[in-house]
Amino acid sequence: MQKMPVIRTRLGEMDLKVDSSALLVYRAAWAHDQGTGRATRESSMAKLYATESAQQVIDAAVQLFGARGVEKGNAVESLYREIRALRIYEGASEVHQQILGDRAIRSFNEGLDARRLKKSSPSP
Ligand SMILES: Cc1cc2nc3c(=O)[nH]c(=O)nc-3n(C[C@H](O)[C@H](O)[C@H](O)COP(=O)(O)OP(=O)(O)OC[C@H]3O[C@@H](n4cnc5c(N)ncnc54)[C@H](O)[C@@H]3O)c2cc1C
Repeated sequence: MQKMPVIRTRLGEMDLKVDSSALLVYRAAWAHDQGTGRATRESSMAKLYATESAQQVIDAAVQLFGARGVEKGNAVESLYREIRALRIYEGASEVHQQILGDRAIRSFNEGLDARRLKKSSPSP
């Protein structure tokens, strides 16, 4: 199996998802530790991405194990069930998508306002 290109590609994608999730979580923790009380964007990104990725990675793991992946008692089978709730509690994925979308729009509009202000102010 290790020699199959499709399996190697999938393992690489799984590794990337696990690592990028960890980096987003570390960044959120770092932003929180700065003590500015402004880690909403970083926390939402970490929660949304890490939990959605966890679901995708476990789903891919079940697929790799074949029929054994859905046998009761197999580690990936229980993880497949356990991981599902993560996308619901501490803010469902849709709630974090909304938070991030709202912030992206606000930040875009603030940039527009700043540029308009700069244009309308007289040059020295
Ligand atoms: C295993 C587990 C442990 C939990 N532990 C705790 C705990 O310790 N303490 C605690 O207080 N609670 C706990 N909860 C409850 C958890 O916080 C809620 O289930 C969660 O906040 C979602 O609320 P809800 O179930 O009422 O779903 P709802 O709020 O009714 O949402 C249902 C679905 O609607 C969609 N949705 C909701 N809001 C939006 C939106 N703004 N935009 C678009 N779509 C939306 C989402 O798909 C969402 O999954 C736990 C839940 C689970 C599953």
